[in-house]
Amino acid sequence: MSRFLDEKFSALKEYVPGEQPRDKKYIKLNTNESPFPPSVSVLEAVNSEEVKNLRLYSDPSNKALKEKLAEIYKVGPDNIYVSNGSDDILNFAFMAFGDRGAAFPDITYGFYKVFAKLYGIDSQIIPLEEDFAIDENKYFGLDKLIVIANPNAPTGLSLSLDKIEKIVSSNKNSVVLIDEAYVDFGGESCYNLIDKYDNLLVVRTFSKSRSLAGARLGFAIASKEIIKDLEKLKFSTNPYDINRLTQAAGVAALEQDDYYTANCKKIIENREFTANALKEMGFSVIDSDANFLFVKSDKISGLDFYLKLKEKGVLIRHFTDERICEYNRVTIGSREEMEIFLEKTAEILN
Ligand code: PMP
Repeated sequence: MSRFLDEKFSALKEYVPGEQPRDKKYIKLNTNESPFPPSVSVLEAVNSEEVKNLRLYSDPSNKALKEKLAEIYKVGPDNIYVSNGSDDILNFAFMAFGDRGAAFPDITYGFYKVFAKLYGIDSQIIPLEEDFAIDENKYFGLDKLIVIANPNAPTGLSLSLDKIEKIVSSNKNSVVLIDEAYVDFGGESCYNLIDKYDNLLVVRTFSKSRSLAGARLGFAIASKEIIKDLEKLKFSTNPYDINRLTQAAGVAALEQDDYYTANCKKIIENREFTANALKEMGFSVIDSDANFLFVKSDKISGLDFYLKLKEKGVLIRHFTDERICEYNRVTIGSREEMEIFLEKTAEILN
């Protein structure tokens, strides 16, 4: 730290992303990426013509992307905001709507508490139930920014649409942000409720189901007024936040959306296959609606399981938080990757 850093940032504990090792090739089941490459339409769109165009700025209004998303989700283009990864929307939401404090679960996406600290927002951390479920009653009438990942990460458990609606309707004077990063793998999206509730902000990403983690592309669906607020912050910080190649990739991905829907189906099948095999080996496996499983075994500590798998070239995500340190989060990859993961797991347990 330099002696110039503002005092308000010196105590900030930054978010630590999952490992992205460059030392050797792992079977990478640690950051919930897709095992499938982007669609052919994306490979064609990000071509040398588009690279030549990099001398020009990207479209700050993201017109093409918004129109395509509006068509798919059957909302107006002005109900859509696009961002440089969905982390950027989370950042803006805490910046813009957290004045009266924020509430989120104790076990959830680790970035929420970092954003809250960054903006000096009081956080009400609401513990998950014993079985890691979210009790919706604990979020009624809080009158502050509420942030819920649905499905939650790293548990994979989801809340039903009617429970989400009760949370949104009981907090009409504050923004309720539903982070749907993993919703395409079996959860129920709530974006249809935006016409009914002007306080609902739904956040999605191209990083998981649409195989574009490295392109950095996220989007939000909300009332026109909330979208305008996000635009205001973007145009006050970084108007060209999405580069040309990512814009082209995003539009092209949406043109071949069926490919991604089919991939999600395969991931769900692989998830069920992996969950059953792990249960047969004695693991407890939390029911997941996401592209990962949250698992633990009585036969080996969470840390040992992670370390031994890493030695064998398979990377999963270990968390140090006391409540979940015996668990690991395993991203669902291709069938072949999951077979190798299971084979190495059996070797370790034996
Ligand atoms: N929300 C959740 C729950 C996540 O797990 C992630 C991925 N780390 C994100 C948001 C951010 O995704 P991205 O910035 O890649 O869109």
